[in-house]
Amino acid sequence: RKDNHMPHVKGQIDFQNVTHSYNNALVLNGVSLSIKPGEKVAIIGPSGAGKSTILKLLPLFITPSGGRILVDNIDTQTVSLSELRRNVAWISQSPQLFSKSITENVIDGDIFRQITGDEVMAASQAANLPEFISRLPLGYNSPAGENGSSLSGGQRQRISIARALIKNAPIICMDEPTSALDDKSEALIRESIGKLIKGKTVLLVTHRRSLLTLMDTIY
Ligand code: ADP
Ligand code: MG
Repeated sequence: RKDNHMPHVKGQIDFQNVTHSYNNALVLNGVSLSIKPGEKVAIIGPSGAGKSTILKLLPLFITPSGGRILVDNIDTQTVSLSELRRNVAWISQSPQLFSKSITENVIDGDIFRQITGDEVMAASQAANLPEFISRLPLGYNSPAGENGSSLSGGQRQRISIARALIKNAPIICMDEPTSALDDKSEALIRESIGKLIKGKTVLLVTHRRSLLTLMDTIY
């Protein structure tokens, strides 16, 4: 049943009459939306409205109770999870970094190919990492994990953006990527998100007006 493939995804996304319930509590009732390759879509609305649920359905972190979700006209439930998720980069509110160096965390964006030092540098610069890494005694070898790390939320978020740049997936999902950050941090992240989403299909949940200006469509 999972024998379909998604070789060269352009990033067309279609939700067709998607329904979702958690323990019989209906959260999404027949959601249909169509997103063109390269289109940047924001979803806004009150807390508990189901925004995160819509995002989580795309890489099948949760399975829809009804309806279909298509990527490039292929039902996501007919391809393997690993193949589907290779095509989706995920930026959360609080990124999960590994207990490894900053460089290793960036490289981990794509475990399916060899990453060159030049690529790490390019992604790090686009994500505004030198702004703080230049002040760390261990530089790019500094630990990035939860333990023993003195990195701020905004710095950790920029590492996760560098990692997503390395992944270079055609679809980017972001769930309130700047909601926990101060204004200065947000400005740096907005800039790096602008680079990350160039040419990509984007699904973004945010309350921040400054991020909405990067989008084509707001639901
Ligand atoms: P939003 O992101 O718009 O704030 P969510 O999609 O997170 O909303 O949640 C929508 C509704 O589903 C809320 O009422 C929430 O309490 C409920 N919900 C979310 N996740 C779960 C879960 N894992 N189990 C049960 N209920 C959930
Ligand atoms: Mg949410």
